[in-house]
Amino acid sequence: MSQKQNDFTKWYIETIQKADLMDYTPVRGCIAFKPDGYEIWEHIKDAMDKRFKDTGHRNAYFPMLIPESFFQKEKDHIEGFSPELPWVTEAAGEKLEERLALRPTSETMIGQMYANWINSYRDLPVLINQWANVFRWEKKTLPFIRTSEFLWQEGHTAHVDEEDARKETMQMLTIYKEVVEELLAIPVYEGEKTPLERFAGAVDTFSIEAMMKDGKAVQAGTSHYLGTKFAEAFEIKYLSRENKHEYVHTTSWGTSTRLIGSVIMVHGDEQGLVLPPRIAPTQVVLIPVGPWRKHPEIIEKLDEILFALKAKGLRVRLDDSDQSPGYKFNEWELKGVPVRLELGPRDLANQQVLLKARDEEEKISIPLDQIVEKVEHELEVIQTRLFEKAKAFREANAHTHIDTLEQLQQHIARSEENEKIAGWILSGWCGDNACEERVKEQTKFTTRNIPFHPPTKKDTCICCGKEAKHTVWFARAY
Ligand SMILES: [Zn+2]
Repeated sequence: MSQKQNDFTKWYIETIQKADLMDYTPVRGCIAFKPDGYEIWEHIKDAMDKRFKDTGHRNAYFPMLIPESFFQKEKDHIEGFSPELPWVTEAAGEKLEERLALRPTSETMIGQMYANWINSYRDLPVLINQWANVFRWEKKTLPFIRTSEFLWQEGHTAHVDEEDARKETMQMLTIYKEVVEELLAIPVYEGEKTPLERFAGAVDTFSIEAMMKDGKAVQAGTSHYLGTKFAEAFEIKYLSRENKHEYVHTTSWGTSTRLIGSVIMVHGDEQGLVLPPRIAPTQVVLIPVGPWRKHPEIIEKLDEILFALKAKGLRVRLDDSDQSPGYKFNEWELKGVPVRLELGPRDLANQQVLLKARDEEEKISIPLDQIVEKVEHELEVIQTRLFEKAKAFREANAHTHIDTLEQLQQHIARSEENEKIAGWILSGWCGDNACEERVKEQTKFTTRNIPFHPPTKKDTCICCGKEAKHTVWFARAY
């Protein structure tokens, strides 16, 4: 596919539409998730939810409407979110005494409730997650990646001290990395955000960052250590073992439906969507070929295969519609189904089936009596191969030899000239906000994160040339 930005965006939207994942709605910036789009989210959700519960968290639910005064209590928080808040000002024909915001995130509402629920050290830690919709009135929207309303999960925990809260912050970042790498087959860099890129109201923000096929970055998940900022704003205190009133230390962490957009942008190809087997709504499609209508034993055999694969817990469909096989092949490829099985009279006579992996050109023939094992094996192979391909792509486009602003500008100009993607760069940074802002102004490259495990360490700041305090990923980002 073309790597030019306009073409890439066009490709992205066409791919989503042909795969029938969503539709635009009459509400500006809000999409309808169609069943295949929503089911991808359900698989992500199930995997996350299981890990949350395995680590002691429970789900709860809080109101979507948040009184304006709640936002005023934490200064950074209101500054960060107020430009994009939609407000409810009227109900039942009467103007409300206090405006209510549609939540952009729930630290304030949950802070208010935790103040009531937490009294003693015996009440801690509080480990709660919420699956919900949130609103951020964005100027520029892109399906799944940036919409005015989206779905997410937000974890909110309260702890006796900084050590316990920081442990939680890191644990959740690790869970995000696991799910995104193991299910979505997207390699990520985990690291710390710079102060300018921090969550509004956080002491420290950590993220996992993924590279899309146009070289831009997506922040795929964030985990925040909030210190006692929200505890002080909402008076969340507990009586310690020493009989003293102490503020709790809180965390929050989130991932959203933009993960769906990331999967499409990382794995898709010119034929459309490519889905990693672990999140594909349909993992295997069975298609009768040749003069199958004259041979009822073909459909009988396919039914048998369908039953056997379903018994193994696989998500399988049989397409026995009256469209031609070629039409069906194309339709299911556009939907990104990982494995297609074809069976015609000649295959049946040879006791074999043809298997086509979505991301490979060649078909392979497999013996009918080994079909279940072979299909299960192939799905695992595809899952691993997609991850390895994405990783190789990232390595090829993550540059570690650009050390000055001038070199970065030359690199960008050269990339544009050759219609290549500019990718990410790993550079040094002195820690000064002004340097970070200057890089952004001149190149649109922003700091993604300070990776925990950088491929190499940098000595000088990309902008001022002074000693580097950090080694940082820079990239253009969604
Ligand atoms: Zn500097």
